[in-house]
Amino acid sequence: MTQESYDAIVIGGGPAGGQAARDLAKKGHKVLLVERLKDFSQNNFSSAGMTLDPLREFDLPDHVIGAYWNDLVIQCTKECYDWKGEKAKGVVLDFAKLRQFLADDCVAHGGEVLLGHRYESKEVTEDGVILQLQNVKTLDKIKVKAKLAIDATGPSRKVIYDSKDEEPEMVLGSGTEYLIEVEQEVYDRYKDKLVFFLGHKWALKGYSWIFPMENKILKVGSGKAHIKSKDQENTNQTTKKLTEKIIKEYMEVEEYKLIDIHGGVLRYTLGIKDTFYQNKVVAIGDAISAVNPSGGEGIRFAMQNAELACEYVDKYLKNGSANFKQYRRRWKRRKLLKWRLSQASAIRMYGRYSDEQIERRIQFINKSLNIDELIQSLFHQKYKKAAVRILRMYMLKLRFRFQGKDF
Ligand SMILES: Cc1cc2nc3c(=O)[nH]c(=O)nc-3n(C[C@H](O)[C@H](O)[C@H](O)COP(=O)(O)OP(=O)(O)OC[C@H]3O[C@@H](n4cnc5c(N)ncnc54)[C@H](O)[C@@H]3O)c2cc1C
Repeated sequence: MTQESYDAIVIGGGPAGGQAARDLAKKGHKVLLVERLKDFSQNNFSSAGMTLDPLREFDLPDHVIGAYWNDLVIQCTKECYDWKGEKAKGVVLDFAKLRQFLADDCVAHGGEVLLGHRYESKEVTEDGVILQLQNVKTLDKIKVKAKLAIDATGPSRKVIYDSKDEEPEMVLGSGTEYLIEVEQEVYDRYKDKLVFFLGHKWALKGYSWIFPMENKILKVGSGKAHIKSKDQENTNQTTKKLTEKIIKEYMEVEEYKLIDIHGGVLRYTLGIKDTFYQNKVVAIGDAISAVNPSGGEGIRFAMQNAELACEYVDKYLKNGSANFKQYRRRWKRRKLLKWRLSQASAIRMYGRYSDEQIERRIQFINKSLNIDELIQSLFHQKYKKAAVRILRMYMLKLRFRFQGKDF
């Protein structure tokens, strides 16, 4: 049993943990980043689609980018709606390379990274916290000490809560994704766009997708929110079956090389009810429900949240105290209303609307919004401009109807 001592130990090498470890190392603190996986190519679960903003916001290098996208496409059961972008509007990251880069950057700034070690338990002391870790291969156990521990274990929230009973009530989302290698001609059909599927033919209480990765490689997947849906209650569809159906029936691809099947779970509280700090443990990222409830987009928000938390961790490490309640308040001020709206839209779109209602809404949005306005509401949850446009279109539609014309 060794007992190395650190300023902060971050458990979990996802986007939140990697960003926190990198940030604290840059601020000059002695940091250890612990990850249960032996390398970041394992559990490469995230589709990692996003806009261009996170690249600038977090100074991410080109080599973590899998592909750029210009266009957005929403395929409903009957029709396909598209929004063309004249230039790149976003990227699909290589999730493994992103996590590797964050860990490498932590080391480049004097931090340490310990892979293949699982957090097991903690003991809170007067001056810090002692964490027990287990080597996943040899099963050897070690103890490490820190002034603060950071829980970045994502949906499992392993460090902040000692038992499941302490956890607040959560809702679930889950997804499956196939990473496939296809012929050049097939790749070229999907290379510059994010294709989303809504409606009951290609999705199940959620949405499905085709994202481009590096040349000839596509990410095809399907995700569902575990909410009640009046139209899709009795179905034998699963996200895996839907993914295969999209490859076979929508893309019409019979032969492809299956590189990997991965998937993951999202667990989040409604209304951000999570514990952000207790007993010398600070929780970040998906461990405090940073993920956007309707889109399942979480990388950028996990990293933003990590950065905010690190302001307070830095203060604590310098002064011996920090107002972690303020960390929680500031995050809720930024996200609570947006997440409530996003959740309400998810419940309607994935749980209540019939297939025809979904089709009509997407058709209307397609007529009302240009690609930038759609991106603002989908990825940045900025609804003001979109709402004004939709209202104007709605008034126009009423006027046409009143005059007995087709809209
Ligand atoms: C199928 C799917 C597709 C998605 N697609 C997108 C997308 O296109 N765009 C987007 O922005 N977001 C997407 N997301 C969401 C996004 O991936 C997450 O919100 C984001 O990864 C959260 O980051 P995190 O660091 O908080 O948690 P995670 O990424 O979950 O990282 C947690 C880390 O902690 C480690 N860990 C867990 N327990 C322990 C332990 N006991 N000891 C040590 N380590 C431990 C895990 O191995 C993991 O590496 C998707 C999610 C899923 C499930």
